[in-house]
Amino acid sequence: MKELAKQYNPEEVEDRIYDMWLKGSCFHAEVNPNKKPFTIMMPPPNVTGQLHMGHALDNTLQDSLIRWKRMQGYEALWQPGCDHAAIATEVKVTNKLKEQGIDKHALGREGFLKEAWKWKEEYESRIVNQLHKIGSSADWDRLRFTMDEGCTHAVQTTFLNLYKKGYIYKGSRIINWCPVCHTSLSDAEVVHEEQDGNFWHILYPLADGSGTIEIATTRPETLLGDTAVAVNPEDPRYKDMIGKMVKLPLTDREIPIVGDEHADMTFGTGAVKITPAHDPNDFEVGKRHNLPEINILNDDATIHCPGSKYDGMDRYVARKAMVQDLKELGLLVKIVPTKHNVGTHDRCGTTVEPMIKPQWFVRMEEMAKPAIKAIETGELQFVPENYGKTYLHWLENIKDWCISRQLWWGHRIPAYYCQDCGEMVVAAEMPKVCPKCGGTHFKQDEDTLDTWFSSALWPFETLGWPEETPEYKYFYPTDVLVTGYDIIFFWVVRMVFSGIEQTGKVPFHKVLIHGLVRDDQGRKMSKSLGNGIDPLEVIKKYGADALRMTLLTGNAPGNDMRFYWSRVEASRNFMNKVWNASRFIMMNLDKAALPETMPSNLTMADKWILSKVNSLIVEVNRNMEAFDLGIALDKVQSFIWEEFCDWYIEMVKPRLWSEEDETKSAALWTLKHVLITSLKLLHPFCPFITEEIFDTLENPETPLMRQAWPEFSTALDFKEDEAEIETIKEAVRSIRNVRTNMNVAPSRKATTYVVTENERVRKTFEHSKVFFATLAYASDVIIQNDKTGIADDAVTVAIPDAVIYIPFADLVDIAKEKERLEKEKQKWEAEIKRSTGMLNNERFTSKAPAEKVQEERDKLQRNTQLLQQVTERLAALSK
Ligand SMILES: [Zn+2]
Ligand SMILES: [Zn+2]
Repeated sequence: MKELAKQYNPEEVEDRIYDMWLKGSCFHAEVNPNKKPFTIMMPPPNVTGQLHMGHALDNTLQDSLIRWKRMQGYEALWQPGCDHAAIATEVKVTNKLKEQGIDKHALGREGFLKEAWKWKEEYESRIVNQLHKIGSSADWDRLRFTMDEGCTHAVQTTFLNLYKKGYIYKGSRIINWCPVCHTSLSDAEVVHEEQDGNFWHILYPLADGSGTIEIATTRPETLLGDTAVAVNPEDPRYKDMIGKMVKLPLTDREIPIVGDEHADMTFGTGAVKITPAHDPNDFEVGKRHNLPEINILNDDATIHCPGSKYDGMDRYVARKAMVQDLKELGLLVKIVPTKHNVGTHDRCGTTVEPMIKPQWFVRMEEMAKPAIKAIETGELQFVPENYGKTYLHWLENIKDWCISRQLWWGHRIPAYYCQDCGEMVVAAEMPKVCPKCGGTHFKQDEDTLDTWFSSALWPFETLGWPEETPEYKYFYPTDVLVTGYDIIFFWVVRMVFSGIEQTGKVPFHKVLIHGLVRDDQGRKMSKSLGNGIDPLEVIKKYGADALRMTLLTGNAPGNDMRFYWSRVEASRNFMNKVWNASRFIMMNLDKAALPETMPSNLTMADKWILSKVNSLIVEVNRNMEAFDLGIALDKVQSFIWEEFCDWYIEMVKPRLWSEEDETKSAALWTLKHVLITSLKLLHPFCPFITEEIFDTLENPETPLMRQAWPEFSTALDFKEDEAEIETIKEAVRSIRNVRTNMNVAPSRKATTYVVTENERVRKTFEHSKVFFATLAYASDVIIQNDKTGIADDAVTVAIPDAVIYIPFADLVDIAKEKERLEKEKQKWEAEIKRSTGMLNNERFTSKAPAEKVQEERDKLQRNTQLLQQVTERLAALSK
């Protein structure tokens, strides 16, 4: 038999094992009518960066599930891929070019895209390699990219389908605009933060010279785009002014006063300026009153106001200048400091500007309905369930989805404009002839699609949709989606409505939501805090299995977890325990012939551990089904560590070491069976170490990851023996407790009497005499019906239906113990004298710091207690 290395060295083992799996196509799944499919779509990591702890957690959960199902006999597909991450990548590539002194616009669209593809190649292979490192058993033969040919085809098909149905439309809408990234943003990309600001109170003179009207605004520079002042029609202060005109300060325009509910009588002066082109609410007011929309900002947030002195100024410079000018005109009433909510771009932190831009939208009302129904009927379930509410909240409040982005890196919108007559044609390819004027010159829309438009199709586009491929028919819909709660809206919601609309099916049935991995103080890991922990560093130091175990056991569905290095160390210690126990078993297996089938002379201990591991299978399955992976792993771990290593292996040692013991081969058979079953149960969580041990032990044709998952067997169900060994364990534990309390060294063996009238208990101890003696440090085990012959001073240990007696003299050398206790007694007496002296000294108690005095009082109390204990034990010894 091959031998395991003396020490487990994950670095050496992991790469070798992973290569072996790859070469053996162990991760590959094929359409197989003889098996049931089980499919997980890997949330495609962005090609912008590298693996972080969140990815490590997300992938460990998926990998554990897929390995478990694969061993259970499913055709298990874990579909991997990467996301082009439109804006995130474009920002990165732009910055990289900037560092090289290259301007994106000077390079042009095509040149820029070339650079972006280069970037993608580099980062994709980097992130894939990192996923290899943590042991991901994804089907790498099927690696996809959201902008590859197939996905591009799927995106186009979806766009055309939605357009034909009237669900996609082009419209001028007020959108969030990032003046730095030069693109529109979806609401979800805007982070609202409270900032310090002011209310500027400004007077607008009435055009007929009959007075002024006072408005308050947090953004005076937008005054240039005002097209009305609104007052509440019920407001007695302004009733008569509705319909009058005001002279808009700093301009030569006159604008009307309109009556609209939007003006709140109880807030500010009750009169508000209306800037339809730069405020979403004003936009709506403008629609109601047919007001013009005047855009006063360029794309970089400088002022656009031809002929005005403010034209070309930055928005904040213009604000200052205009406030100054208003002041000089006597139109500035006052400035009131306030806190207000400001929207910023989540990627670059720039304050976003509401702007009117022609954009592409997806109409959401109809598509949201079946997605809401899916959760109501239970066809779609969240784990934990409460995240279904988050999902519903998004869907019930959904607005039309702005899908166009003014970016280059992404799927270009398949709309073409006739250069002769302006006609728009939406088609898969550039049209040859204009259907309106017969012209032949077309230009494609410059915009690209929101990155989530393509990732929304991920569960089916990766399987060949829109073609009815065998993979699509077999693996779709998928089984479970594993993802973080932070992208329920961005991604989960959009996959569901897109899946239902395009394929008629809910794309997955379960969504397992996990939380964030935070640092040991509970803070989010972030670049700015510098508290991020690189999973690869953890793997290098402790091995991938230890990292996986740490992430899994600290995790409950939906909850954030904290990352502690000490927990990784504990996981590493467990790996060493498994390794050493396996080495021990293998060394013993080497020395004896092993029965082929279950031996008939199993002892009670053998039956107990066989029965335990047998029921462990059921428990692991039950917890995995419920997605409690952490609990499942915890059960496997405590079985291996406590029941198997600490108890069973210790119990069988005397049998292994005795040449005469007739049950030796039964012990070896049991050790091997339990070890193999344990390795299989541990494999989904800790794939590397289990594979290495199994392969060394069995030298199999099929690696462990492709072996069958253990099944519960009634032949190994020994409930009675389980109960009996529990009795022995309780006796051992109680004896060890007593010995610890009395300070008895394990080397000091003692005669141990088991007194019981219960026939079953008597037999239990008789059968287990040998290992009971070892575990309970007994020099001799005597089992009898009554107390005959047992010394009066024997220490007693009670367990159900029996009492165990150990002669006191066996445990303790009385003369030596008395000597030791006397010394201790003197020490406490001296301490007490010292403390009492200090506390009686008035100078000490009045001058020393209060906590010093208290400290001394505590010491005195503690030492008095200790003295009392020592005195009592001395008295007992002198009896
Ligand atoms: Zn930005
Ligand atoms: Zn035309």
